Amino acid sequence: MTPQPKASHFINGEYVEDTKGTPIPVIYAATGEQIAVVHTATPEIVERALASAKEAQRTWASMTGTERGRILRRAADIMRERNHDLSVLETYDTGKPLQETLVADATSGADALEYFGGLAASLTGEHIPLGEDWVYTVREPLGLCVGIGAWNYPTQIACWKGAPALACGNSMVFKPSETTPLCALQVAEILHEAGLPAGVYNVVQGMGEVGSALVTDPRVNKVSLTGSVPTGKKVYAAAAEGMKHVTMELGGKSPLIVFEDADIDNAVGGAINGNFYSSGQVCSNGTRVFVHKDIKERFLARLAERVAGAVLGDPQDEAVNFGPMVSERQMEIVLGYIEKGKAEGARLICGGERVDRPGYFIAPTVFADVTDDMVIAREEIFGPVMSVLDFETEEEVIERANATEFGLSAGVFTRDFTRAHRVIGALEAGSCFINSYNDAPVEAPFGGVKASGVGRENSKEAIKHFSQVKSVYVRMGDVEAAF
Ligand code: NDP
Repeated sequence: MTPQPKASHFINGEYVEDTKGTPIPVIYAATGEQIAVVHTATPEIVERALASAKEAQRTWASMTGTERGRILRRAADIMRERNHDLSVLETYDTGKPLQETLVADATSGADALEYFGGLAASLTGEHIPLGEDWVYTVREPLGLCVGIGAWNYPTQIACWKGAPALACGNSMVFKPSETTPLCALQVAEILHEAGLPAGVYNVVQGMGEVGSALVTDPRVNKVSLTGSVPTGKKVYAAAAEGMKHVTMELGGKSPLIVFEDADIDNAVGGAINGNFYSSGQVCSNGTRVFVHKDIKERFLARLAERVAGAVLGDPQDEAVNFGPMVSERQMEIVLGYIEKGKAEGARLICGGERVDRPGYFIAPTVFADVTDDMVIAREEIFGPVMSVLDFETEEEVIERANATEFGLSAGVFTRDFTRAHRVIGALEAGSCFINSYNDAPVEAPFGGVKASGVGRENSKEAIKHFSQVKSVYVRMGDVEAAF
């Protein structure tokens, strides 16, 4: 698969180019080389996408759930058949190792299409008896939905938003991050190959201003954003102007708590998955690793040993398991945080620098003796930087874990299950893990509390965020009136 797409946008069932839009170069993060170019959507392109989505939604909603579900499930099958090529493209788009993308991106997108395809036929209402009268409810689509994606999971985000939206009978205009514009076009192409009516799922490229034009358009009924908290606040406010529904999947600074009775190797494995997968560019990462002081040095020694096993290199080589930052800009941001960590006196256990090779590689970095007030313990870094903090008591660690504006995820490692449930119950987070970290099956709700977001993706919960309930009161007798 060559990285250069057939055209920049996918509108009304076909690829559309408009070279009047500002060129967006696509840079391969592993080499720094330009591998493709797309053009930002002009106002005419945005209008075409919105108009076709608006028009197509009526036809799509009038089909039965079984018919809609069949198309989504067919798209899931095509994605799985093409998993290898789609994974190679995802690696070009993001720089993530092929070893990861083969199992985490198109496969996760296919899971979402299959799961919501399976649900589509069972989205029914209720019958509520009221003596001889009754109420029935109808689960209706919201209408035209806008999806806006971050750059870390371009295929997965396009599907996690598109699949539930489409299952409910909505149409979508999706804008990928301008850093990773390639993969969503493949999702659109596959959906249409599977039989999706033209216009139901459209992709337009561009930066924040294209996103903003989509969010503020009066035809749009719902906005689902994956991005940072500052962008989320802006988009939420803009959507509120039009009283639009929102789902906000935003950032985090999640706690991962390792008690003194934990299985050390499993806890180290969880910390590695929660900090270094996708080179740390995962919103739900457990970047504040609280380790009980009695096991801290054993934990750090084992962690350093295992981190030394990371294989950096050409991400298209399946033996490589650690890739670059998505962009030069992100690399600079992360290196800036590493310098802050050093300056604030955190103890560097490993990494802590850019890797001397082409591309935007940063060595997996672990800081120990991190304290709650340090910048690296407070702000989302979105890179391979783990902060290990010490603690002594359960009460203390719960309070410190919750002392953040974020609330996306949280994890606990302990052999004491009573404590595990008690602690998880006290943590302010939406997506939690016991003796594990960062699993995201489509069957489980995913999303945050506090500044980390609003609404849930995946699972039956997502249906609630892409549909609304109409209730109908039916009187069987005469109407009584005062006069
Ligand atoms: P940004 O918040 O910078 O951007 C997210 C998307 O919003 C991009 O497509 C961006 O366009 C677009 N955008 C920016 N400004 C506006 C605006 N005013 N109106 C509408 N759209 C706008 O995030 P990043 O792409 O840098 O992704 C990293 C962040 O995403 C991290 O903070 C991370 O925590 C979060 N994230 C959250 C996840 C979750 O599920 N909770 C999952 C993955 C990431 P463009 O960038 O093209 O200008």
